[in-house]
Amino acid sequence: MFTLIRGGDLYAPEPMGRRDILICGDRIVRIGGGMDPPPGFDVRVVDARGGCLVPGFFDLHVHLLGGGGEAGFSSRTPEIAFSSIVRAGVTTVVGCLGTDDVARFPESLLAKAYQLEEEGISTFIYTGSYRVPPRTITGSVQKDVALIPKMIGVGEVAVSDHRSSQPSYEELCRLSAEARVGGMLGGKPGVVHVHMGDGPGGLEPILRMARQTEIPIGQFLPTHVSRNENLMEQAVAFAQAGGNIDFTAGGRGLSFEADTGEAVLRALAEGVSPERITMSSDSNGSMPVFDSRGEVVRLAVGQIANLHAEWRGLVEKGLALETALLFVTRNPALRAGVGRMKGSVEEGKDADLVILDRELSVETVISRGRVLMEHGELLVRGVFET
Ligand code: ZN
Repeated sequence: MFTLIRGGDLYAPEPMGRRDILICGDRIVRIGGGMDPPPGFDVRVVDARGGCLVPGFFDLHVHLLGGGGEAGFSSRTPEIAFSSIVRAGVTTVVGCLGTDDVARFPESLLAKAYQLEEEGISTFIYTGSYRVPPRTITGSVQKDVALIPKMIGVGEVAVSDHRSSQPSYEELCRLSAEARVGGMLGGKPGVVHVHMGDGPGGLEPILRMARQTEIPIGQFLPTHVSRNENLMEQAVAFAQAGGNIDFTAGGRGLSFEADTGEAVLRALAEGVSPERITMSSDSNGSMPVFDSRGEVVRLAVGQIANLHAEWRGLVEKGLALETALLFVTRNPALRAGVGRMKGSVEEGKDADLVILDRELSVETVISRGRVLMEHGELLVRGVFET
């Protein structure tokens, strides 16, 4: 019932110095120094001395069911494995569909989210897919977001991409309004998570909605924003105007023009507030590389480990550890509307914690109070993982 984490430099994400953390059930109940185990209880003690204690990573964009299929059925990517999430130090994921909503459905995505939650991590999903109008469970985006607890918004809606349904501006406005009102009714953010493609228009439809409609700019969350120079310039302007932007980890491997870490540093250097930035993995999405005629020339699949690797890269490039942590802990939890329980280490919040070693590698992972990995050894696996 009780777990005591001893020692470790706590980044909550603010640096708090050396702290002990007492967990009861799935919650953090006390943070302090030199704590003793509560007498009369069985207490599991986890040694964090010499390491860093940080919030569990929060990944806003994961193709839980797999995705892809852009080069025929053999190019469908596989479902994510529970153990790969744990090894990556991720304790919360937000699942999405992608190009394929012909053979993958919001219902199956929801079932996969329930499965992972039962196995031990926290999950949320977006309704819809690339397409507008999207496939939903209840028949409308508004109802899905209002009534289905795990649904925090709609996405990833493809814009400025040859794989998109080429939605009109009016269709995008209607879709965003539905997500917003559904979110208001359901007490959720109703976020509109937008996949940005390589098209010349880039973010223009989103910038136009933010300018011309009553929908607040914070409703939109465009991703893959370092894909090309035009998009990057638009994304910086969007964030400077108060919008939130999401960078996809491992950009070079996706044939993005910029290295993701360098793109994040550039956004900061150009005055974007760290509060506006998140980073996600796009794990288990297909990463097809197309030639100028739109033909697939290479296939790869996104890895959830990229999130931690890109985060560590930011620290190695000189960014303060606590600033880099915002992008993968507190900010995504706020975007998902669950900042009250997740994304930071505080008394009363969910005990989602990662212990990093001196090289900032993931050593121990605790999700809702349960130790899933300890000192590099996986203690809990998915039901069918051997
Ligand atoms: Zn995408």
